[in-house]
Amino acid sequence: MATNQELQSRRDASIARGLANSLPVFVARAENAEMWDVEGRRYIDFASGIAVLNTGHLHPKVRSAVARQLEAFSHTCFMVTPYEVGVELAERLNGLAPGPTPKKAIFVTTGAEAVENTIKIARAHTGRSAVIAFGGGFHGRTFMAMALTGKVAPYKAGFGPFPAEVYHVPFPVAYHGVSVQDSLDALEHVFKYDVEPARVAAIIIEPVMGEGGFYVAPAEFLKALRRLCDEHGIVLVIDEIQTGFARTGRMFAVEHAGIEPDLMTMAKSLAGGFPLAAVVGKAQIMDAPGPGGLGGTYAGSPIACAAGLAVLEAIESEGLCARAEAIGATMMSSLRELQREIAAIGEVRGLGAMVAIELVHNRDPRSPDPDLTRALTKRAAEKGLVLLSCGLYGNVIRFLVPLTASDAIVGEGLGIVAESLRELTRADVKVAANG
Ligand code: PMP
Repeated sequence: MATNQELQSRRDASIARGLANSLPVFVARAENAEMWDVEGRRYIDFASGIAVLNTGHLHPKVRSAVARQLEAFSHTCFMVTPYEVGVELAERLNGLAPGPTPKKAIFVTTGAEAVENTIKIARAHTGRSAVIAFGGGFHGRTFMAMALTGKVAPYKAGFGPFPAEVYHVPFPVAYHGVSVQDSLDALEHVFKYDVEPARVAAIIIEPVMGEGGFYVAPAEFLKALRRLCDEHGIVLVIDEIQTGFARTGRMFAVEHAGIEPDLMTMAKSLAGGFPLAAVVGKAQIMDAPGPGGLGGTYAGSPIACAAGLAVLEAIESEGLCARAEAIGATMMSSLRELQREIAAIGEVRGLGAMVAIELVHNRDPRSPDPDLTRALTKRAAEKGLVLLSCGLYGNVIRFLVPLTASDAIVGEGLGIVAESLRELTRADVKVAANG
C-alpha cells in the first residue's frame, strides 16, 4: 500500500493547492474517535472532520440507517419525487428548533449553501437587501457566504468583487477588549454611517464563533440582537453549522441564550459524516420564496436524511448533550491546570465540548503565537493526535472531540496535548537561551 508521503506527492501533483490539507495523514479506516492511516498508525481524532462527527466515525446507528436506505434507493431528487425520510427529518428538526413559533425547513447539501439560502429567504421575506455579519466570523466559501465571512486571508483575498451591501461589526470578545457594548455601539454606527435599519434584511451570527477562534457570544449580546431585530423587522439568522447537535451541551448553542432565532443554519454533525445541511426557521418567513425558488439536485439526499435521523436518535438515547458538558468540564479543568504551568496558553475557553486554547507570547493577548500553534498541531500528530487550529491570527487550537469518545480516549488525547506543549515550550526556552 502507498505511504503517506507517496500519497501526499500524488495529491500535490493532482489537486490544486487552494484545496490544502493540514496534515500529510491519509486515512485508511476510522471508528468512533480513532483513525488509522495507510501505514497502520493510530490517531485519536480531536478534529471530528471539522465538527462533523459529534456522534463519532461510523456510529453504529448511522451505519445501519444508511445501509437500510441503500437497500431501498439512493436518489430520486426531493424536488421531483420526494420521500418520507426527508419529511420525517424536517419534522424532527422543526420540533427541535428553539422557540414556540411554528417552523418549516429546507434541505441543501453544504453549510455555505444553507447560509446562501438564509439570505435569499430573508430578502424575499423583508423586501430589503442589506446584511450585517461579524468580524472574524466564517460562513462558507460561496460568494454570499464569502462576503459574510469576516476574514480576508485566506478566504476572500483575490476573489472579489463580493455581493454588495454586506457590513461587518466587531464580535464581542472580552479577551481582546471588545465588550458587548462596544459591539452594540458598532452596530449603531453601521446604522448611522452606512445603511438605515429599514433596509437591513438580516443579521447573521455564530453563537460561538468557530473558524474565527471559538469565542462564545455572551447571552446578553444575543438577547440584545433579538431585541434590535424585533424593533426594526430584521431577520435574525443564527449560524449553528459548527455549534449544533449537542456540541455545546444543548442541541443548539443558541439555547444557552434563551432566544428564538428567525432562521437557523445547520450542517456538519447533522448527518454524522454524510453531506447534508438545512435551514430551519419560522414558517411564515421560510414560506416567503415562491415554489421553485429554493432547492438543489442533491438537496436532502435520502441517504444523508436517514443518517440525520440516526444522529438525532443517538444524541437522545446516549444523552450526548450531558456527555458534551462532561467532556467539556474535563477538558476545561485539565487545560486550565496546564495553563498555570505554560505561559503560552493565554486563555482556555469554551461552551460544553466546544473548547479552545489561545496561544500567545508570555500571556499577552496582543501577541499571538501562530508558529507555536502550527508546531503543536504537527507534534501532536507525530504522537498520534489530530488537532485543528483556528482564529483570526491562526493561534487557537480548537478541540472538537467526538461526544461518543470514552473518558480514556479524552484523557489520552489531553495527555498528548500537555506533553507536546511542554516539549515545544521547553525547546523555545532553550532556543532563547542559546540565541
Ligand atoms: N458556517 C459555519 C459557522 C461553519 O463553521 C462552516 C464550515 N466550517 C460553514 C458555515 C460552511 O460550511 P461548509 O464548509 O459545509 O460549506
